Amino acid sequence: MEEYAERLRAAVARVRAAERAAGRSAGSVKVLLATKTQPAGVVRAVFELPEAAGMLRGENRVQELVAKGADLADLGLTTHLIGPLQSNKINAALRWVDAVESVASVELAEGLAKRLEPGRVLQVMVQVNVSAEPSKSGVLPAEALAVAEQVAAIPGLKLTGFMTIGANTADEMQVRAGYAELARLRDQAHDRGLGTGLELSMGMSNDLEWAITEGASIVRLGTAVFGARVGAQ
Ligand SMILES: *Cc1c(COP(=O)(O)O)cnc(C)c1O
Repeated sequence: MEEYAERLRAAVARVRAAERAAGRSAGSVKVLLATKTQPAGVVRAVFELPEAAGMLRGENRVQELVAKGADLADLGLTTHLIGPLQSNKINAALRWVDAVESVASVELAEGLAKRLEPGRVLQVMVQVNVSAEPSKSGVLPAEALAVAEQVAAIPGLKLTGFMTIGANTADEMQVRAGYAELARLRDQAHDRGLGTGLELSMGMSNDLEWAITEGASIVRLGTAVFGARVGAQ
Protein backbone atom coordinates (compact mmCIF):
# COMPACT_ATOMS: atom_id res chain seq x y z
CA MET A 1 0.00 0.00 0.00
CA GLU A 2 2.84 2.37 0.70
CA GLU A 3 3.57 2.73 -3.01
CA TYR A 4 -0.01 3.83 -3.68
CA ALA A 5 0.17 6.31 -0.81
CA GLU A 6 3.43 7.70 -2.14
CA ARG A 7 2.12 8.05 -5.66
CA LEU A 8 -1.06 9.65 -4.40
CA ARG A 9 0.90 12.17 -2.34
CA ALA A 10 3.12 12.92 -5.33
CA ALA A 11 0.07 13.41 -7.57
CA VAL A 12 -1.55 15.75 -5.06
CA ALA A 13 1.70 17.68 -4.81
CA ARG A 14 1.73 18.11 -8.60
CA VAL A 15 -1.86 19.36 -8.53
CA ARG A 16 -1.09 21.83 -5.72
CA ALA A 17 2.02 23.09 -7.49
CA ALA A 18 0.08 23.57 -10.71
CA GLU A 19 -2.67 25.42 -8.87
CA ARG A 20 -0.07 27.73 -7.33
CA ALA A 21 1.68 28.30 -10.64
CA ALA A 22 -1.63 29.20 -12.24
CA GLY A 23 -2.54 31.56 -9.41
CA ARG A 24 -5.44 29.38 -8.39
CA SER A 25 -6.32 28.62 -4.80
CA ALA A 26 -5.14 25.41 -3.16
CA GLY A 27 -7.74 22.69 -3.44
CA SER A 28 -9.70 24.43 -6.17
CA VAL A 29 -9.00 21.57 -8.58
CA LYS A 30 -10.77 18.31 -7.81
CA VAL A 31 -9.02 15.02 -8.36
CA LEU A 32 -10.87 12.12 -9.94
CA LEU A 33 -9.13 8.78 -9.66
CA ALA A 34 -9.63 6.80 -12.86
CA THR A 35 -9.89 3.26 -11.54
CA LYS A 36 -10.18 1.32 -14.79
CA THR A 37 -8.63 -2.16 -14.71
CA GLN A 38 -7.97 -1.84 -10.97
CA PRO A 39 -9.66 -4.49 -8.86
CA ALA A 40 -12.12 -3.39 -6.20
CA GLY A 41 -9.66 -4.27 -3.44
CA VAL A 42 -7.06 -1.86 -4.77
CA VAL A 43 -9.63 0.86 -5.37
CA ARG A 44 -10.88 0.47 -1.80
CA ALA A 45 -7.40 0.56 -0.31
CA VAL A 46 -6.54 3.75 -2.20
CA PHE A 47 -9.77 5.53 -1.33
CA GLU A 48 -9.32 4.62 2.31
CA LEU A 49 -6.03 6.55 2.38
CA PRO A 50 -6.48 9.89 4.17
CA GLU A 51 -4.97 11.67 1.16
CA ALA A 52 -7.87 10.44 -0.99
CA ALA A 53 -10.57 12.06 1.13
CA GLY A 54 -13.01 13.91 -1.09
CA MET A 55 -11.63 12.57 -4.34
CA LEU A 56 -13.98 11.37 -7.06
CA ARG A 57 -13.96 7.91 -8.61
CA GLY A 58 -14.11 7.50 -12.37
CA GLU A 59 -14.79 4.34 -14.33
CA ASN A 60 -14.73 4.22 -18.07
CA ARG A 61 -16.35 0.87 -18.69
CA VAL A 62 -19.86 0.01 -17.59
CA GLN A 63 -18.80 -3.59 -17.13
CA GLU A 64 -16.28 -2.56 -14.48
CA LEU A 65 -18.66 -0.09 -12.92
CA VAL A 66 -21.14 -2.91 -12.36
CA ALA A 67 -18.56 -5.50 -11.34
CA LYS A 68 -17.06 -3.30 -8.61
CA GLY A 69 -20.22 -1.44 -7.66
CA ALA A 70 -21.45 -3.58 -4.80
CA ASP A 71 -17.95 -4.13 -3.39
CA LEU A 72 -17.33 -0.39 -3.10
CA ALA A 73 -20.83 0.78 -2.23
CA ASP A 74 -20.15 1.19 1.49
CA LEU A 75 -17.39 3.73 0.79
CA GLY A 76 -19.99 6.25 -0.37
CA LEU A 77 -17.75 7.47 -3.20
CA THR A 78 -18.97 9.90 -5.78
CA THR A 79 -18.63 7.96 -9.02
CA HIS A 80 -18.43 9.39 -12.52
CA LEU A 81 -18.71 7.45 -15.74
CA ILE A 82 -15.94 8.76 -18.00
CA GLY A 83 -16.17 6.35 -20.92
CA PRO A 84 -18.53 5.54 -23.75
CA LEU A 85 -22.04 4.40 -22.89
CA GLN A 86 -24.19 2.29 -25.19
CA SER A 87 -27.91 2.65 -24.88
CA ASN A 88 -28.39 -1.00 -23.88
CA LYS A 89 -26.15 -0.42 -20.85
CA ILE A 90 -27.83 2.72 -19.56
CA ASN A 91 -29.85 0.97 -16.88
CA ALA A 92 -26.83 -0.88 -15.56
CA ALA A 93 -24.77 2.30 -15.50
CA LEU A 94 -27.44 4.38 -13.80
CA ARG A 95 -27.46 2.09 -10.83
CA TRP A 96 -23.84 2.88 -10.00
CA VAL A 97 -23.11 6.45 -11.08
CA ASP A 98 -23.62 9.91 -9.69
CA ALA A 99 -22.60 11.63 -12.89
CA VAL A 100 -21.94 10.82 -16.53
CA GLU A 101 -19.09 12.90 -17.95
CA SER A 102 -19.14 11.22 -21.34
CA VAL A 103 -22.38 12.46 -22.85
CA ALA A 104 -21.51 12.77 -26.52
CA SER A 105 -24.96 13.06 -28.07
CA VAL A 106 -28.41 14.43 -27.35
CA GLU A 107 -29.76 10.92 -27.98
CA LEU A 108 -27.68 9.50 -25.15
CA ALA A 109 -28.80 12.31 -22.85
CA GLU A 110 -32.43 11.59 -23.69
CA GLY A 111 -31.88 7.88 -23.14
CA LEU A 112 -30.43 8.57 -19.72
CA ALA A 113 -33.27 10.87 -18.74
CA LYS A 114 -35.89 8.42 -19.93
CA ARG A 115 -34.57 5.68 -17.67
CA LEU A 116 -34.14 7.74 -14.50
CA GLU A 117 -36.31 6.86 -11.56
CA PRO A 118 -38.91 9.56 -10.93
CA GLY A 119 -37.43 12.39 -8.92
CA ARG A 120 -33.81 11.50 -9.61
CA VAL A 121 -31.61 14.19 -11.11
CA LEU A 122 -28.52 12.99 -12.94
CA GLN A 123 -25.46 15.18 -13.36
CA VAL A 124 -24.10 15.12 -16.87
CA MET A 125 -21.23 16.69 -18.75
CA VAL A 126 -20.88 17.07 -22.46
CA GLN A 127 -17.78 15.34 -23.80
CA VAL A 128 -16.08 17.40 -26.46
CA ASN A 129 -13.50 16.06 -28.88
CA VAL A 130 -11.32 19.17 -28.89
CA SER A 131 -8.60 17.58 -31.00
CA ALA A 132 -11.12 16.18 -33.50
CA GLU A 133 -9.18 12.89 -33.58
CA PRO A 134 -11.41 10.33 -35.30
CA SER A 135 -10.56 7.69 -32.69
CA LYS A 136 -12.06 9.77 -29.90
CA SER A 137 -15.66 10.13 -28.92
CA GLY A 138 -17.17 13.46 -28.07
CA VAL A 139 -18.99 16.14 -29.99
CA LEU A 140 -16.98 18.49 -32.14
CA PRO A 141 -16.32 21.93 -30.64
CA ALA A 142 -18.54 23.58 -33.24
CA GLU A 143 -21.51 21.51 -32.06
CA ALA A 144 -20.77 21.57 -28.35
CA LEU A 145 -22.83 24.56 -27.32
CA ALA A 146 -25.88 23.46 -29.24
CA VAL A 147 -25.64 20.01 -27.68
CA ALA A 148 -25.10 21.49 -24.22
CA GLU A 149 -28.13 23.70 -24.68
CA GLN A 150 -30.33 20.74 -25.61
CA VAL A 151 -28.93 18.57 -22.83
CA ALA A 152 -29.44 21.31 -20.25
CA ALA A 153 -33.09 21.54 -21.25
CA ILE A 154 -33.85 17.85 -20.63
CA PRO A 155 -35.85 17.32 -17.44
CA GLY A 156 -34.04 15.05 -14.99
CA LEU A 157 -30.59 16.07 -16.19
CA LYS A 158 -28.39 18.76 -14.73
CA LEU A 159 -25.61 20.00 -16.97
CA THR A 160 -22.56 20.32 -14.72
CA GLY A 161 -19.83 20.96 -17.23
CA PHE A 162 -17.67 19.79 -20.09
CA MET A 163 -15.16 16.97 -20.40
CA THR A 164 -12.43 16.26 -22.88
CA ILE A 165 -9.55 13.91 -23.47
CA GLY A 166 -6.55 15.94 -24.57
CA ALA A 167 -4.80 15.59 -27.88
CA ASN A 168 -2.62 12.53 -28.02
CA THR A 169 0.68 14.34 -28.49
CA ALA A 170 3.57 15.67 -26.44
CA ASP A 171 3.20 19.05 -28.15
CA GLU A 172 2.37 21.35 -25.26
CA MET A 173 0.90 24.13 -27.39
CA GLN A 174 -1.39 21.73 -29.22
CA VAL A 175 -2.64 20.06 -26.04
CA ARG A 176 -3.15 23.38 -24.29
CA ALA A 177 -4.98 24.87 -27.27
CA GLY A 178 -7.54 22.08 -26.95
CA TYR A 179 -7.97 22.70 -23.24
CA ALA A 180 -8.26 26.45 -23.83
CA GLU A 181 -10.96 25.72 -26.36
CA LEU A 182 -12.95 23.71 -23.81
CA ALA A 183 -12.59 26.59 -21.34
CA ARG A 184 -13.94 29.00 -23.96
CA LEU A 185 -16.91 26.75 -24.58
CA ARG A 186 -17.59 26.61 -20.86
CA ASP A 187 -17.46 30.41 -20.63
CA GLN A 188 -19.88 30.70 -23.54
CA ALA A 189 -22.18 28.18 -21.86
CA HIS A 190 -22.15 30.38 -18.75
CA ASP A 191 -22.95 33.41 -20.89
CA ARG A 192 -25.89 31.57 -22.40
CA GLY A 193 -27.21 30.68 -18.97
CA LEU A 194 -26.77 26.93 -19.43
CA GLY A 195 -25.59 26.55 -15.86
CA THR A 196 -23.47 28.14 -13.15
CA GLY A 197 -20.11 26.92 -11.92
CA LEU A 198 -19.79 24.57 -14.86
CA GLU A 199 -16.86 22.18 -14.45
CA LEU A 200 -13.98 21.59 -16.82
CA SER A 201 -12.92 17.95 -16.59
CA MET A 202 -9.63 17.81 -18.45
CA GLY A 203 -6.09 16.66 -17.85
CA MET A 204 -4.74 13.22 -17.05
CA SER A 205 -1.58 11.84 -15.45
CA ASN A 206 0.79 13.07 -18.11
CA ASP A 207 -0.59 16.55 -18.68
CA LEU A 208 -2.45 17.67 -15.57
CA GLU A 209 -0.24 20.78 -15.28
CA TRP A 210 -1.21 22.00 -18.75
CA ALA A 211 -4.88 21.36 -18.04
CA ILE A 212 -4.80 23.21 -14.72
CA THR A 213 -3.03 26.13 -16.39
CA GLU A 214 -5.92 26.29 -18.85
CA GLY A 215 -8.56 26.16 -16.13
CA ALA A 216 -9.33 22.50 -15.37
CA SER A 217 -11.56 22.09 -12.33
CA ILE A 218 -11.36 18.27 -12.37
CA VAL A 219 -8.27 16.29 -13.38
CA ARG A 220 -8.65 12.56 -14.02
CA LEU A 221 -5.70 10.53 -12.83
CA GLY A 222 -5.04 6.86 -13.41
CA THR A 223 -1.46 5.76 -13.89
CA ALA A 224 -0.04 8.57 -11.74
CA VAL A 225 -1.68 6.92 -8.75
CA PHE A 226 -2.24 3.29 -9.67
CA GLY A 227 0.87 2.71 -11.76
CA ALA A 228 0.89 1.28 -15.24
CA ARG A 229 -2.30 -0.51 -16.19
CA VAL A 230 -2.19 -4.25 -16.61
CA GLY A 231 -3.50 -5.48 -19.94
CA ALA A 232 -5.43 -3.48 -22.49
CA GLN A 233 -6.48 0.17 -22.09
C1 LIG B 1 -7.94 6.13 -18.10
C2 LIG B 1 -8.52 7.47 -18.22
C3 LIG B 1 -7.96 8.55 -17.55
C4 LIG B 1 -6.68 8.45 -16.74
O1 LIG B 1 -5.60 8.31 -17.60
P1 LIG B 1 -4.10 8.23 -17.04
O2 LIG B 1 -3.27 8.58 -18.20
O3 LIG B 1 -3.91 6.84 -16.57
O4 LIG B 1 -4.01 9.21 -15.94
C5 LIG B 1 -8.59 9.77 -17.67
N1 LIG B 1 -9.71 9.93 -18.41
C6 LIG B 1 -10.27 8.91 -19.07
C7 LIG B 1 -11.50 9.15 -19.87
C8 LIG B 1 -9.70 7.65 -18.99
O5 LIG B 1 -10.27 6.64 -19.66
